[in-house]
Amino acid sequence: MTALPGRVTLVGAGPGDPGLLTVRGLRALESADVIVADRLGARGVLDGLAAEGVVLAAEVLDVGKLPGHHAVPQDAINALLVHLAREGKRVVRLKGGDPYVFGRGLEELAACREAGVQVEVVPGITSAISVPAIAGIPVTHRGLATAFTVVTGHDQIRELGGGRDHTVVLLMGIGTLAHAAMTLSRGDRGADCPVAIIEDGHGPGQRVTVGTLATIAHQAALRGVRSPAVVIVGDVVSLSPYAPSAIAEVSPRAAPCDA
Ligand code: SAH
Repeated sequence: MTALPGRVTLVGAGPGDPGLLTVRGLRALESADVIVADRLGARGVLDGLAAEGVVLAAEVLDVGKLPGHHAVPQDAINALLVHLAREGKRVVRLKGGDPYVFGRGLEELAACREAGVQVEVVPGITSAISVPAIAGIPVTHRGLATAFTVVTGHDQIRELGGGRDHTVVLLMGIGTLAHAAMTLSRGDRGADCPVAIIEDGHGPGQRVTVGTLATIAHQAALRGVRSPAVVIVGDVVSLSPYAPSAIAEVSPRAAPCDA
């Protein structure tokens, strides 16, 4: 009997709550032989599914990355996926959020394709949008924000144009927060532009901090804010129930979405 050809499915796990995994993603997990999991998002989803009584037959290999530490180098992850698929395994590569948002998803897809391994992608809910939503913050809102940009703390945010109606979402932005806030405050957004930090969305350390571009770095230092966290900058932050009234008053122009 010839073995069935293996394949790889890159699955976006969403931000960490199993309820935010897609149905297609869950089906892929249920039919997998091996799950190659990231720490962020992915691990929380697997633990959450287990807590809900979902039994997965697959073996789980953890290749998780801590901020600043690459537990398993990207090349080794790519090689592992190819190796497992060539053994005939149905492999799920479970990645935090969406595989294609700062997730190196296409690199993994390309490595599989180059090796002749069948591969597909199941999108996930990105933390860039879903984690601000925990704090009641929409990335766009009629009358307040007409666009949003997702960048990492390592990107050249100096070149980011736009004012407070152009929301900026920073991923991996805690280490460089002071510099990013200062740079953004010098542009059209100004020093009193509202900012929120949402730490560990859907996790045990979930916490929201709201301030302005002038104050946020100091607040973050005082509160010991840690990664993983999403930083969101713009007038939409004033819509959050966590926003102190001084910041909430920034947004008298908020218009109802369904008007
Ligand atoms: N592909 C992922 C992003 C990977 S970059 C996605 O689409 O969500 C990793 C960064 O995402 C973290 O440094 C943090 O900024 C953010 N992040 C991911 N999950 C998070 C969570 N549950 N809570 C807070 N931030 C999160």
